[in-house]
Amino acid sequence: MENNKDYGKGTVCVQAGWQPKNGEPRILPIYQSTTFKYESTEQMGRLFDLEEDGYFYTRLQNPTNDYVAQKICELEGGAAAMLTSSGQAANYYAVFNICGAGDHVIMSSSVYGGTFNLLTVTMQRMGITCTVIDPDCSEEELNAVFQENTKCVLAESIANPALVVLDFEKFAKAAHAHGVPLIVDNTFPTPINCKPFQFGVDIVTHSTTKYMDGHAMTVGGAIVDSGNFDWTKYPDKFPGLCYPDESYHGVNYTERFGKKAYITKATAQLMRDLGSIPSPMNAFLLNIGLETLHLRVPRHCENAQKVAEFLEAHDKVKWVNYPGLKSNKYYDLAQKYMPNGTCGVISFAVDGTKEDTVRFMDALKLAAIVTHVADARTCVLHPASHTHRQMNEQQLKEAGVDPGMIRLSVGIEDVTDIIADLEQALKTL
Ligand SMILES: *Cc1c(COP(=O)(O)O)cnc(C)c1O
Repeated sequence: MENNKDYGKGTVCVQAGWQPKNGEPRILPIYQSTTFKYESTEQMGRLFDLEEDGYFYTRLQNPTNDYVAQKICELEGGAAAMLTSSGQAANYYAVFNICGAGDHVIMSSSVYGGTFNLLTVTMQRMGITCTVIDPDCSEEELNAVFQENTKCVLAESIANPALVVLDFEKFAKAAHAHGVPLIVDNTFPTPINCKPFQFGVDIVTHSTTKYMDGHAMTVGGAIVDSGNFDWTKYPDKFPGLCYPDESYHGVNYTERFGKKAYITKATAQLMRDLGSIPSPMNAFLLNIGLETLHLRVPRHCENAQKVAEFLEAHDKVKWVNYPGLKSNKYYDLAQKYMPNGTCGVISFAVDGTKEDTVRFMDALKLAAIVTHVADARTCVLHPASHTHRQMNEQQLKEAGVDPGMIRLSVGIEDVTDIIADLEQALKTL
C-alpha cells in the first residue's frame, strides 16, 4: 500500500505503517534489538548529530515502534508521530516538550485523574504552573486565564470518566488568539470517531492502552503533531524549537525539520533523557489492535447506545450519563464533532445507597470489576469503592462523585447478553 491520502480509515487501520518490499515479511517484524550495527564510525557520528536518518539505540527510536506510530499518524491525519510507553508519558512529553520552569499551562478541569495530578502536582514541582478551567466556560472566561508565560492548552476530546465533550473550536480559537497550541487527548473517541485536527487542534495525544490496543494487553501512548502550528511566529515563546539546541550540537529543530520539528525534538531530547520508550513487542501487539480499530469502535458505540437507553428507561436507575443520549448535556456537541458515535463508556447510578451499589456490582456476571476501560470485554468500576475509596459520603459529595456512580465500559459482546446481565443484577436492588 502506498501512502495515499484517499484511503479510508479501515484501509489505513489494516495496511498503513509497515510496507514490505519484495521478499520481506508480510507481517510487521518485531525489531527486538537494543542496538543497530554500522560499518563506519563516521556514519554513526552523523546519526548522533541528526544529520542522517537511521537507528542507533532503541531508547531513542526503534523501527517496529516507528511503523506503528506512522499508522496512528495517518489515522489522525498528522505530519509526524511517536509512541511512548504509556498515555501518562504521552501527555507529559507533549507538554514538557514546549514548557519549562517558569512556564504556565491551561487545562480543562474534567481531564483524566492521572493527567490532572501530572499537571497540578508533579509538573508543579518542576516549576510549571497550571490553571484549571471548566471546559464549559464562556469564551471570556477562557481568554481571561491566559498569561504572558502560557505555553499551551490541554484538554480531552471526551473526558474520562466525566464524558464531557470538548468544544474544540472554542478552545482552538482562544489558544491561537494567544499564540499557543491546543493539545487534545483523543483517547476515548479515537480517530475513528473524531479527528481533532479538523477542528483546529494542533497536537493529539493518546493512551493507546484503551481502544487502540483494545484487548487490555499493553500499556502505551502516542503523540501526533498536525504540523499546523507555526512555532517560528513566536521564537521567544518556543526557544527550544526555534533556537539552536546545544545538547544536540546546535541543531535548530524548526529550521532543519519543518513540520516534524516538534516530534523530532521530543524524540531526540525527551526520549534520550527520560526514556519512556515502549518495547517493540508491545508496539507489535498494539499494531494488531489497530488492525481492527475501525470494526471495534462502531460496535462499542452501538452497544453502549443500547445499554444507555436500557438504563435510562429502568426505574432502579437514578441517572445515566452518555453523550449519545438525546437527554445528555453534550448531545449537540457530540453530534457536531463526532456524529458517527462517541465512545463505549457510560456512567450511571443506581437508586440506593453505596451498599446497594456494591451489591449490584457484585451480582454482575459478564461485566468484570477491573481498573480499566475501553476493552473488548465489558467492565465496571465503582469510584466510591475504588479510585475515591478514602472519602466518606460527605467528601464524595463535595468532590462531585455520587456514591452510587458506576463507570461502565461496554464491550463488543452481544448486547442482549450485556443488557440481560445488568437486568439480573438490578433485580437484587
Ligand atoms: C488512561 C488514560 C490516560 C493514561 O494512560 P495510561 O496508558 O494508563 O498511562 C490518559 N488519558 C486518558 C484520557 C486516559 O483514559
